[in-house]
Amino acid sequence: MDYKGRLVRLRQAMDRHKLDAVLITHPPNIQYLCGFAGSTGALVMAERVCFFTDGRYTEQALAEVQGSRIKIARKSALAAAAQWLGSSKLRRIGIEAQHLRVAERAVVASAVGKGSKLVDAPPIVEELREVKDQDEIASIRRSCALAARLFDRLREVIRRGITESEVAGEVEFAARKLGAEQMAFPTIVAGGERSALPHGRASTAAIPSSGFVVCDFGVILAGYCSDMTRTVHVGNPRSKAQLVYNAVREAQQAALEAVRSGAITGEVDRAARNVLKKSNLAKFFTHSTGHGVGLEIHESPRIAAGPRKVLRPGMVITIEPGVYLQGEFGVRIEDTVVVTNSGAETLTAGSKELLTF
Ligand code: ZN
Ligand code: ZN
Repeated sequence: MDYKGRLVRLRQAMDRHKLDAVLITHPPNIQYLCGFAGSTGALVMAERVCFFTDGRYTEQALAEVQGSRIKIARKSALAAAAQWLGSSKLRRIGIEAQHLRVAERAVVASAVGKGSKLVDAPPIVEELREVKDQDEIASIRRSCALAARLFDRLREVIRRGITESEVAGEVEFAARKLGAEQMAFPTIVAGGERSALPHGRASTAAIPSSGFVVCDFGVILAGYCSDMTRTVHVGNPRSKAQLVYNAVREAQQAALEAVRSGAITGEVDRAARNVLKKSNLAKFFTHSTGHGVGLEIHESPRIAAGPRKVLRPGMVITIEPGVYLQGEFGVRIEDTVVVTNSGAETLTAGSKELLTF
């Protein structure tokens, strides 16, 4: 991974925001900038770059951290990082306002002293992370290929009567056997009426003899996430179910076709909604069309109406429209794709025909 290049781009962002230093505390941001994948640490970017952790992580830091000095704190890594900042007498120190807790901020403020100003920095590292480099895309590609194989396993185990959590368990066991570090999020298996819950985590409910089953799953491989949803049907679908499924599939296809370098995120979102409008289903699509995927399962950019964001080559996003009819059923279809100059390359290959069991 190109840690040197990332630090250079961070320095440029700091200059734009007139920051003399930044204190990075969000673990995925630390991992992005220096490679450390542990859960406790703080990275300071000032004149020099220094990574702080505590004695539990000495070996891991030595093995993983690149491009930064390493300091092992006796007590708290955060306090040590703040003290180091305090001794360098800097004027404007950026903190990750979205991530630092109030109590942690107080620790930092007292250590840096009155001469420095703590500035709530915008999410500059998150913005750097939006466009993935070739190494990252290769990792996400492998993570998505593994997720796609889990869909094969799902198709083997889904049948009426098996519980949702048994299905999820089989999928998660397969993921481990295929080399996944862990699931990227709690696996969603939601059958029958529960398929209308956009985040219906696998429960002890049994898969009914007839109805949709929404399956949303993804893994972490080499630090990088994947995200994929397929909706299958147990028993013969009625015409309404078939109609809604086709509409969601068409909406997903339209959004995928709207993805290309230079497109605005809101346009991609609108492409999905416009299709659903035709069959009066747009009001049942209650979440955004997608999100960035990388070191975290949900990251920038959001694919939604609202803040204008331009898609750039190398961004990795999901396209996942859904329709949720409370008390009846829900359908969602999701792929993880990489933005290219000419369009989108789908990384989570897998049939989108309505499969019945
Ligand atoms: Zn998902
Ligand atoms: Zn998703």
